[in-house]
Amino acid sequence: MNYLPKPYHTRIWKAIYEHRLIEPGDRVLVGLSGGKDSMFACYAFRAIRAYSKIPFELGAATIDIGFDTPMDSEALQAFCTGLGVPFHYIPTRIAEIIASKKDKVSPCSVCAYFRRAALHRFAAQQGFNKVLLAHHQDDAMETFLMNILYTGKIGTLPWITRLSRTGVTVIRPLMYLSEHDVSRASRRLALPVQQSPCPYSHDSSRARTKELIKALCRHDKMVRANLISAMFEDEQMELWPASGRHYTHRPS
Ligand code: SF4
Repeated sequence: MNYLPKPYHTRIWKAIYEHRLIEPGDRVLVGLSGGKDSMFACYAFRAIRAYSKIPFELGAATIDIGFDTPMDSEALQAFCTGLGVPFHYIPTRIAEIIASKKDKVSPCSVCAYFRRAALHRFAAQQGFNKVLLAHHQDDAMETFLMNILYTGKIGTLPWITRLSRTGVTVIRPLMYLSEHDVSRASRRLALPVQQSPCPYSHDSSRARTKELIKALCRHDKMVRANLISAMFEDEQMELWPASGRHYTHRPS
C-alpha cells in the first residue's frame, strides 16, 4: 500500500523541497475527482507520508458537480478507507449553474470556479490549511498554451498559491510528472479510476488544445519538450513593450 516507484518519489520530493509545498503540521486535503490523476495523487501522498520526515495529515474530498450520471461515492470511500485516508463527499448543484449559463460562458470556467470555491471553503471549514491539486506537467503545458491562445497572456499553473480569502494554500506537487507517468502508475497500481460523468469533457478548450499539441507532435516530436521548456523563467525573453498593446488587431 505504501509502494511508489523510486522515480516518482524523487520527482515529487524535488517539487516539495524546491517549492516548500509541505511544512511540519500541515493538514493537506486532496481534491479527489475519481479520475486517474487525483486517485494517483491520493495514493502517492499516502505513500509519501509513510516515509516522510515532515509530519503532515492527509484527507481527501470529492466535490460532486451533480451531473446526470452519478459518481460512485461508495467506491471512492472504499478506496480512501483502504489507504487509511479520511474521505469527505460534498454533493453540489454546480451542474445546474453550468446548464443555466452555458450559452454565454464556457461550462469549464463556470465549473472550475464553483468547484474550487466549494473545495477551498470546505478545506477552510474543516481546518485543512493546504489543498492538493493533482495537475501534472501536461496540464501545466496545456494551460500555458491556452493562456496564450484564449486569454492573450503568458502564464502557467503555479506550484503554490496562497489564497487570502480563505487562508488556504493550494499546492500542485505532481508537475514534474508527465501525464504518461501518471497513467502508467495508475495502471500499474490498478487504481480504481472512474470515468468522468461530465458531458462537456470532449468539447472543451482544454480538449481542443490537447488535440492541437498531439497533432503538432506528430510532425515534430520536440514540440512537447519545447513547450515545457518555454514555461521556465528566462531573462532573455524577447517581448514587446506593453505600450503598443493598443494596436492589437481584433476580429470585428
Ligand atoms: S470538462 Fe467538465 S468537469 Fe472538467 S472543468 Fe469542464 S465542465 Fe467541469
